[in-house]
Amino acid sequence: MKFTVQIPSREEAYLAADRAARKAKKAAAGLERRAEEAVNRIQLRRTIRDLEEEIGLQLREVGELVYATHRGTPSDSEDIQEILEYVDSLREELEAHQRELRTLAGVRFCPACGEENDGANAFCHNCGQPLSGE
Ligand SMILES: [Zn+2]
Repeated sequence: MKFTVQIPSREEAYLAADRAARKAKKAAAGLERRAEEAVNRIQLRRTIRDLEEEIGLQLREVGELVYATHRGTPSDSEDIQEILEYVDSLREELEAHQRELRTLAGVRFCPACGEENDGANAFCHNCGQPLSGE
């Protein structure tokens, strides 16, 4: 009996090595991206928690001022107004971070109506706007 052994040519070996290298590179890039996303999510959750805590503290301060006013120590309504405006800005920031976190979780926001959609949807379930691309 005769056996024939196929010895890959130099080019074939080179191409195979190149393919393997590209595959490994792609896998590494995917891992890196996922790790970055995980870190992003952790940071976002931390920021969200801090913002919620700060909003709670500010609203408590408003409560104390209103309480004092009703107990005979009037507080400056400009002070209260200032705190409320600060709370508004914190809430805006909080909402933006929550949206970002949901986007990372695969949710897509409709560019036309702002509705939250499943990441797999091609069209907005609310208004029908295409969700893919720009
Ligand atoms: Zn929509």
